Amino acid sequence: MERVFAEGDRVGVMLTETLGRALSGCLDYRAPEGGCGTGDFVEVPLGPRRMLGVVWGPGDGTFDAAKLRSVARVLEARPMRAELRAFLTRAAEYTLTPLPAMLRLATRAPGLGEAPGMRRLYRLGGPVPNKLTEARHRVIEALRGFGGAGLTLGELCEAAGCSSSVVKGLVGAGVLIEAEAPRDLPFPDLAPQGGVALQGDQIAAADALVAAVAQGGYGTTLLKGVTGSGKTEVYLEAVAECLRQGRQALVLLPEIALTAEFLTRVEARFGARPAEWHSGVTQTERRRVWKMVSEGQAQMVVGARSALFLPFQQLGLIVVDEEHDTSYKQDEGVHYNARDMAVLRASICGAQVVLASATPSLESWVNADQGKYLRLDLGARFGTAELPEMRAIDMRNERLPANRWISDALAQAVTARRAAGEQSLLFLNRRGYAPVTLCRACGQQVGCDHCDARMVEHRFLKRLVCHQCGATKPVPEACPSCGVEGRMAAVGPGVERLAEEVAERFPEAKLAILSSDLFGSARALKDKIEEIARGEAEIVIGTQIVAKGHNFPLLTLVGVIDADLGLQGSDLRAAERTFQLMRQVAGRAGRSGDRRGLALLQTHQPEHPVIRAILGGDEEAFWRAEAAERRAAGVPPYGRMAGIVLSGSDVAKVFDFGAELARRDGPLRRIGAQLFGPAPAPIARVRGRHRVRLLIKAEKTAPIQAAIADWLAQLKPPGDLRVAVDIDPQSFY
Ligand code: ADP
Ligand code: ZN
Repeated sequence: MERVFAEGDRVGVMLTETLGRALSGCLDYRAPEGGCGTGDFVEVPLGPRRMLGVVWGPGDGTFDAAKLRSVARVLEARPMRAELRAFLTRAAEYTLTPLPAMLRLATRAPGLGEAPGMRRLYRLGGPVPNKLTEARHRVIEALRGFGGAGLTLGELCEAAGCSSSVVKGLVGAGVLIEAEAPRDLPFPDLAPQGGVALQGDQIAAADALVAAVAQGGYGTTLLKGVTGSGKTEVYLEAVAECLRQGRQALVLLPEIALTAEFLTRVEARFGARPAEWHSGVTQTERRRVWKMVSEGQAQMVVGARSALFLPFQQLGLIVVDEEHDTSYKQDEGVHYNARDMAVLRASICGAQVVLASATPSLESWVNADQGKYLRLDLGARFGTAELPEMRAIDMRNERLPANRWISDALAQAVTARRAAGEQSLLFLNRRGYAPVTLCRACGQQVGCDHCDARMVEHRFLKRLVCHQCGATKPVPEACPSCGVEGRMAAVGPGVERLAEEVAERFPEAKLAILSSDLFGSARALKDKIEEIARGEAEIVIGTQIVAKGHNFPLLTLVGVIDADLGLQGSDLRAAERTFQLMRQVAGRAGRSGDRRGLALLQTHQPEHPVIRAILGGDEEAFWRAEAAERRAAGVPPYGRMAGIVLSGSDVAKVFDFGAELARRDGPLRRIGAQLFGPAPAPIARVRGRHRVRLLIKAEKTAPIQAAIADWLAQLKPPGDLRVAVDIDPQSFY
């Protein structure tokens, strides 16, 4: 039982905001009239403000009793369960985040404290006359399209593109009825129905997952299978079992653009749409989802990484689809990896985790290899489709003219596909027109004014853009450095420039460019993807967004313009990333056709072990080799790492502070950790702030968080200097 406090008792309230270092924990208050209980959401006075908080337990008693203020009010929300509080506490400890910042992630919905309000809805009521004005007709169509629940006046006017008088007129004519309805409606019941008849490996995998869910308790399974092998069908069986058990299921997807297709699939399979949670969801809908999840009135949530912090009542299953995807790692504010946090939350609340991927992260591969995770493999693709044939094109033998990037071999393959009425994809993981703009007179490259990054030309926007901070400026006529006019030149290809070459070589072909920055909204991107899937482009030119699980049935050729791109750089995961990306992109080809797909990789180093592993298709060999290298180097997942980034406006102060921290490395040395740096971060300036990095390396079992906390507690950062700690860093910028 949660503890109950009587009026006037001293309670500890965890705020949802970090107020400097001193106030990083709980504050004491008196329980209000009527008392309160652990987990209650409350509003408390702080100075002149009112803040949202959660009753965390009894107060610690150190604050002067005479000055104690009372909790202002207890909100009408379900108290936060002990399980979620424990998860937030552990996650905060693991990521070295102040608990209020963690709690904030779990309370990101507007109007949590508002009483369940009512709103006026409009729906069809009486007979629809045959003759209608155009506007009235659109209103009726909009309501038919949205089903029976009805729409608010605002929603209806927007959907029908009409004024409110049209709707009122229809009410007056008895065609529509107005009715009050609760604002936050429960989600419709999901009833597992049908599903496909699983085959071969799919059956055994689904049985194992269903049994694990039915048994209850914690466990993690790595579900590995190439794109199209039926991973989704298999984990939907586990979701169905979870719902039958009366527990809630959460499915995390790496990209909003993927949710639409997935939701349609869920609807077909479970008879209704589940709750949705990501940055594209309206504020009203966010509140509804948050409330309904907390009341157990939403059985399934499909969402982005932050959905992990929703107040589930009885979470039974978390699926992390495309678990290797880097978007699961949040690199701003609270640094956390949703995949790892999913495992943590499940282990606390006794839920099952399914990590699905064609190309798992090395971390998950090793965990499965060591028996910490169960591993289930789906062998072939469903049906006849098989993995594409993969071949390298040795670019050292291709004498390409300047500003050309497509080899003859690749061009011929594209021509052949067009003749057969099939699609080709040319993959280049570089947004924009050209990565470098340089002055032919003095050799100077155009950089960002606020960052140590080169500006990337975007012809579509007619501007230079910094991919680091987003700053833009016009493409200069004269060199900003030497002033000579008319000698500025674009160097190297981005997808926009590649499109120019394609248009020249295939003047009749229908082209489509898929790059995240070319679309104003997730919706527009989704429409484009659907268009391509229907076959309305012969040649698709794309960045890594095409690698993420979209299904293009007519696509049978993938040409990788520069397979060497990801192999450069000092990132410890460079090889792994390249391997995953190439496999994923190649997996787009021949996904459901009867013809075998072909993937051509343009490379200058066909002998590179990663390129050979990709071509050879021996994935286990790649992972074993990569794991052995990491083990030898003592780096993750065989060792622990943490990145500390200091940033501030005064470069000397930032370095001085870093040096001072390095001198006081006692707490780190005591656990046998090594400290590297301070050194300029690979991107040494972002948004005008200078960045200095320290890197900590320790053995797997070393208590790295506690040591870092002790180490950093020795010094207070001066001025505007900020310290960001990233445990298990993914990117090293
Ligand atoms: P993955 O998640 O591994 O990419 P999916 O589960 O999306 O694979 O399956 C790919 C396609 O094949 C989907 O359209 C799916 O409905 C279909 N499919 C998979 N298994 C079967 C099956 N046993 N019977 C019928 N269709 C199947
Ligand atoms: Zn910049």
